[in-house]
Amino acid sequence: MSGERPKPIDPLRVPRFAGPLTFARLPYREDLVGVDVAVLGVPFDGGTTFRPGPRFGPRKVRELSTLLRTYNPALGVSPFELITVVDGGDLPVVPTHIEDTFERVEAALRPILGLGVVPLCIGGDHSVTLPILRAVAARHGPVALVHIDAHTDLWDEYYGRKYSHGTTFRRAIEEGLVRPEASVQVGMHGPVFDAEDYELPRKFGLLMVPLAEIETYGIDEAVRTIRRRVHGPAYLSFDIDVVDPAFAPGTGTPEAGGLTPREALRLVRGLAGLPFVGFDLVEVSPPYDQGDITALLAANIAYEFICLAAMAKQSSQTEA
Ligand code: MN
Ligand code: MN
Repeated sequence: MSGERPKPIDPLRVPRFAGPLTFARLPYREDLVGVDVAVLGVPFDGGTTFRPGPRFGPRKVRELSTLLRTYNPALGVSPFELITVVDGGDLPVVPTHIEDTFERVEAALRPILGLGVVPLCIGGDHSVTLPILRAVAARHGPVALVHIDAHTDLWDEYYGRKYSHGTTFRRAIEEGLVRPEASVQVGMHGPVFDAEDYELPRKFGLLMVPLAEIETYGIDEAVRTIRRRVHGPAYLSFDIDVVDPAFAPGTGTPEAGGLTPREALRLVRGLAGLPFVGFDLVEVSPPYDQGDITALLAANIAYEFICLAAMAKQSSQTEA
């Protein structure tokens, strides 16, 4: 069976800089029947409040993902042997309209989730997580959210409007898409509008692990906190701006003093075995990047997500 699974194009046969531009050089497929994980771009940045540009994120992350290799020594897993992963292309967006984009993203995702596929969405700004969660919750019910970000994205509105990349998770909670008691926000740092901003997660029943706590107790303790809390169908949303702008300058709302890439990768790997039913990696803004370092990191984090999905399937099969 595993021999029939789609594999990245062999770089010793076709060089990495040649061939079709798909995530990790996996096949592009419109028909997702039998697929375990589909990588899907969501090239929309109409929800940004500062620097735009994440509409170019999916294409650039695909470009840097051509460097990925098949075996993950940190987790001891060959994901493409264990699960069927393809590039499903980009979800439909309307560059000039956030509500229309939300409708189209959700409508396109629902049948994909109906097939049992785990979506791995590459943003796009963080507003796109709301229609993704709408589709995910329609299939799996409200999810346990692991939200890794410099920001809580729990604000109520911007300029009198309810939808933006800074209001995503307040809307998601209001709509009953997440189970706050099983959810964690991780990595918040940088100045906010008010001291009350750091009370918002608790107000909504979420647990927050701010970056200051990680600084004191370390990544592994943050991982233990997440694993203690998360149960049932879970969703992982990763905003690249949690990483320090020294390593991830290509993003819309950079905050000084973030995680190192090594810490970010350790954090994600620590979540192996949790029952994730969806992933997103958002806020990569190539026009502000330097030497594609942000997109390279994003491609690697997305690869770790694929490894988590492979390990989740492995552990569910062992249990069954
Ligand atoms: Mn965010
Ligand atoms: Mn953010």
